[in-house]
Amino acid sequence: LTLGIPKETATDERRVALVPDVIKRLGAKGVKVVVEPGAGEHALIPDALFEEAGATLSSDVWSADIVVKVAPPTADEVARLGSESILIGFLAPLSSPETATLLRDKGVTAFAMEAIPRISRAQAMDALSSQSNVAGYKSVLTAADHSTRFFPMLMTAAGTIPPAKVLVLGIGVAGLQALATARRLGAKTTGYDVRPETAEQVESLGATWLDLGIEAAGEGGYARELTQEERDQQQQALTDATKGFDVVITTALVPGRPAPRLVTAEAVEGMRPGSVIVDLAGETGGNCELTEPGQTVVKHDVTIVSPLNLASDMPEHASQLYARNVQSLVELMLETPEGASEPSLKLDWDDEIIAGAAITRDGEIVHPGAKKTVE
Ligand code: NAD
Repeated sequence: LTLGIPKETATDERRVALVPDVIKRLGAKGVKVVVEPGAGEHALIPDALFEEAGATLSSDVWSADIVVKVAPPTADEVARLGSESILIGFLAPLSSPETATLLRDKGVTAFAMEAIPRISRAQAMDALSSQSNVAGYKSVLTAADHSTRFFPMLMTAAGTIPPAKVLVLGIGVAGLQALATARRLGAKTTGYDVRPETAEQVESLGATWLDLGIEAAGEGGYARELTQEERDQQQQALTDATKGFDVVITTALVPGRPAPRLVTAEAVEGMRPGSVIVDLAGETGGNCELTEPGQTVVKHDVTIVSPLNLASDMPEHASQLYARNVQSLVELMLETPEGASEPSLKLDWDDEIIAGAAITRDGEIVHPGAKKTVE
């Protein structure tokens, strides 16, 4: 059984789907890996390290039994897959109907890393979490870099500088990591979410819980979209709350919906000049009204940064974590018959992880969310 690892072609995508350490682990189980030359270049993993780990270097990665990518495939890339191919990667099932349609028309069996059910058994495969962790960490460093102020309190002979006040909006995986990282840098941290259970998580990280009295827990541990009335109430309350903060990091998402607008233009105007907003929700429109996705802008003397693929800015560790997620998923798809020297593919469609992660199969779109976006 062979895995193919193409070089990523999306702009600003620096990650690679497998790293040498994981290739060695898979090799020990009899899995062969073919890596496109230069695939690890942007993650600073030279071809020689892939070879040392047992991979073959070849541009013929698209005919492998399973092709593993990070970013969704382009139309050209889908065309290079065989109709018997299996593809694994981030496939944006809720926001990219084009990808699902292309894969369906090609007859590919495709699994989206985003669609892996978030159950305990699948934790090791949870690439949304592993990459959100990287993004949450990096969002704080990005904020610190753009800030004209110290994060830690400084007590010096030249006077005392108070610690920066950092507010994190949206306490999922990225938000929790942002709170932890900002605190490690010495900031005074506050967290806010509409899922009430996050209050305890915020406090366990030494941060203050901002209670605005709006609860909007949805299905599967996610938030639901707010009603217009709740939205107005939330925006008003946050406009008052953000005034005292030096840094606001926003990570709020509702699956398959535009990012909730949490920080209005009025709120930005109310912040002290020199403050910084890092908006991690740019890909779905942004949590801040003045965000320009992918850009860094200064409005009312507040710097608003909207990186679109922050995990890719730390390609070494992001790739390492992603590769371990992929390894766990691939292992679930294999069986080694008795006496066989290498494993063969066995997709157990009764397994909720396999079934839940599938986007296309047998010439059909099978993921309910992807189906809806195509209709
Ligand atoms: P996410 O990226 O989808 O959203 C980020 C946060 O934004 C969420 O906490 C959400 O509640 C919040 N949010 C949405 N709308 C908001 C609004 N209007 N105002 C304020 N906040 C708003 O979240 P995520 O990081 O993917 O985590 C989602 C859930 O999945 C969490 O419950 C998390 O604990 C859970 N999870 C479970 C597992 C597992 O069991 N394997 C792994 C990871 C995450």
